[in-house]
Amino acid sequence: MSSLEPPEDHRICVCVRKRPLNERETTMKDLDIITIPSRNVVMVHESKQKVDLTRYLENQTFCFDHAFDDTASNELVYQFTARPLVESIFRKGMATCFAYGQTGSGKTHTMGGAFSGKAQDCSKGIYALVAQDVFLLLRNPAYEKLELKVYGTFFEIYGGKVYDLLNWKKKLQVLEDGNQQVQVVGLQEQEVSCVKEVLNLVELGNSCRTSGQTSVNAHSSRSHAVFQLILKSGGKLHGKFSLVDLAGNERGADTAKATRKRQLEGAEINKSLLALKECIRALGKNKSHTPFRASKLTQVLRDSFIGQNSSTCMIATISPGMTSCENTLNTLRYANRVKEL
Ligand code: ADP
Ligand code: MG
Repeated sequence: MSSLEPPEDHRICVCVRKRPLNERETTMKDLDIITIPSRNVVMVHESKQKVDLTRYLENQTFCFDHAFDDTASNELVYQFTARPLVESIFRKGMATCFAYGQTGSGKTHTMGGAFSGKAQDCSKGIYALVAQDVFLLLRNPAYEKLELKVYGTFFEIYGGKVYDLLNWKKKLQVLEDGNQQVQVVGLQEQEVSCVKEVLNLVELGNSCRTSGQTSVNAHSSRSHAVFQLILKSGGKLHGKFSLVDLAGNERGADTAKATRKRQLEGAEINKSLLALKECIRALGKNKSHTPFRASKLTQVLRDSFIGQNSSTCMIATISPGMTSCENTLNTLRYANRVKEL
């Protein structure tokens, strides 16, 4: 089982996943400008125009811990990202996995939060794959004697406010006590005893998350969804795995056309993604100061960034098309900064 452990000096793992061109992109003859020439390299082949109007390709290369092309399955992505962190939560660790990228690039597909009304569709995502290994390890003789119980929580952060996805989007307060413990007051923690029960929670939360939405540009792409599996021993927190489907990182809200509401949403998302980057970087550097109070997202994930026993992985998802080039480059630059120590 020790092969499941992240190496000591490697508490941050940053990966990129490219999705296939979709039907719409194929129909409009969008070009696939992303190649993955080796297991950890991503290349962007950007078409540019010289002063004399001749076109040329500008290639940009990025290196990551792993790069997955459009043939990679969720299982494969899982093996190299969240899976090595699972066992740490049995040793009182705090593990966190983020999906980061523009709307439509595959964050929810990767996490397994796509809601279709059929639980088996969720079963392929990282939520379910983590749950599967958690229940396996629970029966491992090394951990059985801890008499651990497993709980699930699922909440959304939108506009700097927290909403419980397991309780009809009830708005919750976040409090920090004198011991710097951060509490989401009244957050539903549902005990779960098998993968099926976890999937039921995911499905309930997703239906709550997407209810009332009409378009792809819907609310869910502008909120962060946090799904957590919590281990408790004798009623006390033992370890926690947080799986975060982040809000889309596209900068659409900057345009003059955007409504005031959209601009505020965009500003809030930007603030939280910047704070997230700084917190992960602080974790990697073992810095004493972590700016987790800079956003609600990082505040509620405080446990993920503090302490020797925290480990994080980020899956940056990218769209392959030329039409997404700007967003893709932004995503790759952000992911690069997170990994850079
Ligand atoms: P996001 O959550 O980042 O907005 P989604 O996960 O909803 O994006 O993905 C957008 C669409 O692309 C969905 O229809 C999804 O099924 C599809 N998709 C995303 N990633 C992949 C992939 N790796 N392989 C196949 N289809 C994908
Ligand atoms: Mg999504």
